[in-house]
Amino acid sequence: MPQLRLYKLVFKAKQHEYGDVFTFIFDLPKPIRFQAGQYAHLMLSRIPGGNRWRELSFASAPDEDEMWFSVHVRDESPFKQKLSKLQQGDLAWVFGVEGNFTVPSQTNKPLVMLTGGIGITPVRSMVRSIERQHKEADITVVHVSHDDYLYKEEFLKLSHAQYRVKRGELDEILIKIGKEKPTALYYVAGSEGFVTDMKNKLKNSGVRKDDIKIDTFKGYKSKN
Ligand SMILES: Cc1cc2nc3c(=O)[nH]c(=O)nc-3n(C[C@H](O)[C@H](O)[C@H](O)COP(=O)(O)OP(=O)(O)OC[C@H]3O[C@@H](n4cnc5c(N)ncnc54)[C@H](O)[C@@H]3O)c2cc1C
Repeated sequence: MPQLRLYKLVFKAKQHEYGDVFTFIFDLPKPIRFQAGQYAHLMLSRIPGGNRWRELSFASAPDEDEMWFSVHVRDESPFKQKLSKLQQGDLAWVFGVEGNFTVPSQTNKPLVMLTGGIGITPVRSMVRSIERQHKEADITVVHVSHDDYLYKEEFLKLSHAQYRVKRGELDEILIKIGKEKPTALYYVAGSEGFVTDMKNKLKNSGVRKDDIKIDTFKGYKSKN
């Protein structure tokens, strides 16, 4: 069971990313402790007949003044509809910070972030956190998407190696990375189907189980 301590958030702004993907930005009246790559339960005020919270990855870094969440705003989701109608100053809450999809404080291994669609959210948090702390890290970002690439413009400003591919182009890239970075630690995030598929691919290509960390966005269906 998640811990039930509630942290207050104040809605600040909504940013359109592409298609039905939006980023929701909140101010933090008090700092919230979490590690880059973790997720929490974002809770809204009551939704008649519906579940008022969803598990969402933090897309911002822990030391930032504002908190970001990026989601597909689906018409069929009362939660997402309520989220998209928030007005500046409206309250929301976060509880149950969880997850071990985090970067070790010290590692010499190259890090390969292998993400499907919206699964890039925790990777933004990790990459931003590393950048903000001026830490040295050998990071490769592989983003698989069937449409657009979330945070593309922001990531392009970074010096890390990055590939934006369709699913069919992935094998070639993974072989290349496997040869260039044989000791890499892989971080895989996205829908259940994506994570299972990537885990199998990596294991079949000889990556050790201990070198694969996963973040499964349960409840999220994707074509990636
Ligand atoms: C650790 C973790 C981190 C997560 N991080 C994020 C995140 O950063 N951003 C994010 O958007 N989500 C994230 N999720 C998923 C999130 O919690 C929701 O499950 C997801 O966004 C779907 O919510 P919904 O309200 O749209 O659908 P729900 O109302 O929860 O689902 C209703 C039904 O619709 C189905 N469904 C869901 N998505 C689709 C779709 N695209 N097309 C068709 N059917 C669908 C579901 O399988 C379910 O049967 C995360 C989940 C976990 C466990």
